[in-house]
Amino acid sequence: MSRVNESFAGIIMSRRDYREHDLLVKILTDSMGPLMFLVRGAKRSRSKLAAAVLPFSYGQYVGMLDPQRLSYLITVKELHQWDRIGADIDRNAYATYLLELVDHAFQEGQSIGAWYQQVERALALINAGRDPQVITNVLEVQLLGRFGVAPQWQHCVVCKRQQGPFDYSEAYGGLLCADHWELDPHRLHLGSKTVAYLQLFSTLNLQKVDQVNVRPLVKRNLRWALDKIYNDQVGLFLKSKHFIDSMNSWDQDLNGLLKK
Ligand SMILES: [Zn+2]
Repeated sequence: MSRVNESFAGIIMSRRDYREHDLLVKILTDSMGPLMFLVRGAKRSRSKLAAAVLPFSYGQYVGMLDPQRLSYLITVKELHQWDRIGADIDRNAYATYLLELVDHAFQEGQSIGAWYQQVERALALINAGRDPQVITNVLEVQLLGRFGVAPQWQHCVVCKRQQGPFDYSEAYGGLLCADHWELDPHRLHLGSKTVAYLQLFSTLNLQKVDQVNVRPLVKRNLRWALDKIYNDQVGLFLKSKHFIDSMNSWDQDLNGLLKK
């Protein structure tokens, strides 16, 4: 059942050409999750909708929503842009990855509840210059549950002890306390700071966060741990993530050159 002229909050996720003057635009809607919209005439220079579907735009839209087929965008009532994401390669890369991850995490046509505000806030923080990797890591930890991996971050999986040191075990699906490390020789051998951030991120409400500072070494370890969990337990390999990885290796190459 399509819903006619429904007003909804939306975040532009991705877009591609469709016919000469039209675009297909994936929008994250608050009421029905990610939906594909046909946006007629969006490539015409005088189209009002052209600006409304630019990357990293969000606002209040009106459309005909159809979770089974194409939805149609009719007009925009209130439009904002995270313009500092588009202008920065680092922020752009992480925001693009975040949106691709969200697209895979939710089914078309189903309300995503409070997730909508969490995603919107994550993008607002990235736009405001907060560390894009760390903000992305927070959502990566929280979205694991959507991919059927719900690690136990609060206590040891075996004895329920709440006091660390802890390490993460993929085989046990959560934390192991030092008394139980011997159960899994393949535990990730994470440092206590890295584990503490993973625990913090798992329940962090971004609405209540303004600044997150994580030291570079811990950031590298967080990146490594989450890549390992996503590769081994989720099995998701996204193009936008591959881009971030190659961007990081350019940085290393460049630093290597500068040191010579
Ligand atoms: Zn234990």
